[in-house]
Amino acid sequence: MHKKMFINGEWITEDNNATLPVHNPATGEVIGSIPNGGAKEANKAVQAAEQHLEDWSSRTAEERGDLLIKWRDIISANEDKLSEIISLESGKPLHESKVEVNVTKSFLTWYAEEGKRVYGETIPASSGDKRILVIKQPIGVVGIITPWNFPAGALAKKIAPSLAAGCTLVVKPAEETPLTTILLTELAIEAGIPKGVINVVTGQPEEIGGTWLKSDAVKLITFTGSTKVGKILMKGAADKVKKLSLELGGHAPFIVFEDADLDKAVTGMMNSKFRNTGQTCVCANRIFVNKNILPQFLEKLKIAMKDLLVGPYDKSNVTTGPLINQAAYEKVTFQVEDAIKKGAVLKMGGKRIDHYSKGYFYEPTILQDVNESMEIYYNETFGPVIPIIAFEDEDKVINQANDTKYGLAAYIFTESLNKAIQISEKIESGIVGINDGIPSVAQAPFGGWKESGLGKEGGRAGLEEFLETKYISIQM
Ligand code: ADP
Repeated sequence: MHKKMFINGEWITEDNNATLPVHNPATGEVIGSIPNGGAKEANKAVQAAEQHLEDWSSRTAEERGDLLIKWRDIISANEDKLSEIISLESGKPLHESKVEVNVTKSFLTWYAEEGKRVYGETIPASSGDKRILVIKQPIGVVGIITPWNFPAGALAKKIAPSLAAGCTLVVKPAEETPLTTILLTELAIEAGIPKGVINVVTGQPEEIGGTWLKSDAVKLITFTGSTKVGKILMKGAADKVKKLSLELGGHAPFIVFEDADLDKAVTGMMNSKFRNTGQTCVCANRIFVNKNILPQFLEKLKIAMKDLLVGPYDKSNVTTGPLINQAAYEKVTFQVEDAIKKGAVLKMGGKRIDHYSKGYFYEPTILQDVNESMEIYYNETFGPVIPIIAFEDEDKVINQANDTKYGLAAYIFTESLNKAIQISEKIESGIVGINDGIPSVAQAPFGGWKESGLGKEGGRAGLEEFLETKYISIQM
């Protein structure tokens, strides 16, 4: 699969035909290549998006919505092909890629409708000879930078509301997983999304991102990825006072109270922790369990984890794929070894699976007696590791849960409605799942507090990111 960039309705290569390889993380094999584009292509893409902004933004919301629905239907017709590509380049099991395709479709469906509800306001004036109107307009050309862990889903969360709002786009997928974006673009063309509306540049992240940060035409950069790169973008955005929407890292607390239904807690744990092999920003990363129920919780968890089958996506019944690359494997290994050295007890797993010598397959792992002295306590894991911290005091556990620079998701397991509500209110994070390990959906605002990000994706708030508010004052 030797793919090209898509700019102004044309598939193009880098001038010197420079390419980057794309790997299958399960085997290390090269499965394709993409152009190693940079500033030149990033600028060309912006010119195209700028040139077609007026046409796209002046179409009716119905017309744009109809095209999003057509795109969704073409995605449905190509569901198997798309799921296969997602698994091939990200390593996730096929059933998870199918869920991701459904999530992608749900964002297109929801924003195709919501784009029709970009309402303005009229406000009573202070004098009889004045009128006050407020209108919402598309922000303009949007730069989209996506990560490898949800190559379709993360893109859909940005592309559906921005197109519905009337923006034109320049998109840079992650180097690890560009093929999904390219296939989705091919399907968008088939759906009739006009030329210049979606432009895809692949290659050098810093150059491409840097070009868009410097461009006057790009009015917003929406990014999903690490907090480290989010901070680089914030610094780079200062010069142009460019708007950013950032979906960054997380370090979600998962609190199991004494009165929790342990079956629900274990199901929530399995869903939250092992989706994408623990490589999501909302994964449960610090597991606080009331000490009186810890033995029963552990027993049930171990039984559930026995059903996990780690392996390449094309092997039947696989539930859990590889880590994305060597750096991810090294990080997980370091966190586990550091925790054990400092007193954590290894209850399950704890090492690489040797018989897949090419991919970075890691055993589903449980660590008990984790504490504040360990690296895993404060830093995002991005791997299939469950670090357990026993607690007694409910006030203290809330402080522990909030003792992190991150604030994306948190999970609470209790059968007490009062406790669930009170603790949800005290948790410093943008998303709380009560007895729910997978809370994200198209119609709800997903986004982090603290160093987990700025802005929201999904729901009404996710559309606002791509709109500017204009106040019109009329002297009669
Ligand atoms: P991860 O560590 O999970 O790979 P990154 O934050 O490094 O996450 O990458 C997320 C996305 O950000 C990818 O598309 C990557 O190419 C892009 N990226 C990385 N560095 C930069 C940068 N300096 N400017 C713009 N984009 C970047």
